Amino acid sequence: MTKIKHLKYTKYEIIVYSQMMNNLEIKQLKELLSTSKKIAIVSHRNPDGDAYGSSLALYHYLLKLKHKVTVVSPNDCPSFLKWLPKQEDIIVFEDNTEKGKEVLEEAEIVFTLDFNALHRVGQQMQSVLETLNTTFVMIDHHEQPDDYAKYMYSDPSKASTSEMIYHFLEMLGDLANLDKTIATCMYTGIVTDTGSFKYSATTKATHMIAASLIDLGIDHTKIHNSIFDTNSFNRLQLLGIALSNLKVLYDYKTAYITISQQELNSHNFKKGDTEGFVNYGLSIKGIVFAVIFIEDQKQGIIKMSLRSKGSFSVNDFARNHFNGGGHLNAAGGRSEVSLTSTVKQFLEIIPNYKKDLENSYEV
Ligand code: 5GP
Ligand code: MN
Repeated sequence: MTKIKHLKYTKYEIIVYSQMMNNLEIKQLKELLSTSKKIAIVSHRNPDGDAYGSSLALYHYLLKLKHKVTVVSPNDCPSFLKWLPKQEDIIVFEDNTEKGKEVLEEAEIVFTLDFNALHRVGQQMQSVLETLNTTFVMIDHHEQPDDYAKYMYSDPSKASTSEMIYHFLEMLGDLANLDKTIATCMYTGIVTDTGSFKYSATTKATHMIAASLIDLGIDHTKIHNSIFDTNSFNRLQLLGIALSNLKVLYDYKTAYITISQQELNSHNFKKGDTEGFVNYGLSIKGIVFAVIFIEDQKQGIIKMSLRSKGSFSVNDFARNHFNGGGHLNAAGGRSEVSLTSTVKQFLEIIPNYKKDLENSYEV
């Protein structure tokens, strides 16, 4: 494994460490993939567009190479991803634990996509993954990867894991096998993780890859509609509640939203309904840090989504205070105390970051 230090020049000169595969590793992987194997592809808990997009892109590619491939997801995806090609083939570990365990235990290669620490699959599946004596391949774009994979393609400067799957095929010298189905899955991951090409990690390469996917005949308008125009009346009502709960701390350029379990219940909450709510806080003029706190009584936690603009690192903030992490400008976290206590704790911490928040870039 080689560690390459990339300097990514932005207004604030952010240093990104990237772990690429070297030629030997690529050669070894090519060799491994040159004969039919039992392969498991694993995505993270609460899979998003990039998790399923990258997993299914790789799934369709490896099927073409005649491998026996299964995607295993810790839990089910939100309904806005149910249309993805062969989504129905994914084994949901939570609902089909025996089958999921069997697939993982039999796998000769396990690809872990869009996460870089085994705890991201949840306790039950993590304990199975930890017992496996097999070859792990990590392809991921989150910061600070754990060291569990023999082959690591980790690059936090990339906007999505789906984009990295494109580069992975490129490294394997096999872009010729990219087809419309693989491209549709890839495009879904790219669109969702770049906020439709607007987040700062979106690069010229992202657009060039998107262009080549369009060349393969994907229906980009249909993909956008399938992802974004699937609101239910209840979701919009819940958004109304979220917006009326929105609080702004102008002194700290911060906005936050709370949603209680009762509020979720009263709007027939379905997985994925709160996706994107946090961005409304960040859309307020002058705000560089936005958080949403969502009560989950079943898991006994408060789930947090954190977003920022500029140099303020929500990855560090979530890591340091809320058992989470992610990227510079998008991270997740959790708390095991009540909603009120979590917010209280958050409000106590915020003043320590006044300088960082003031200095964070603002549009
Ligand atoms: P979200 O707010 O959408 O759940 O997560 C934002 C980003 O942070 C996503 O890329 C997600 O994969 C990542 N993320 C969420 N929770 C965690 C966590 O606990 N640890 C790490 N390392 N990343 C997380
Ligand atoms: Mn991702």
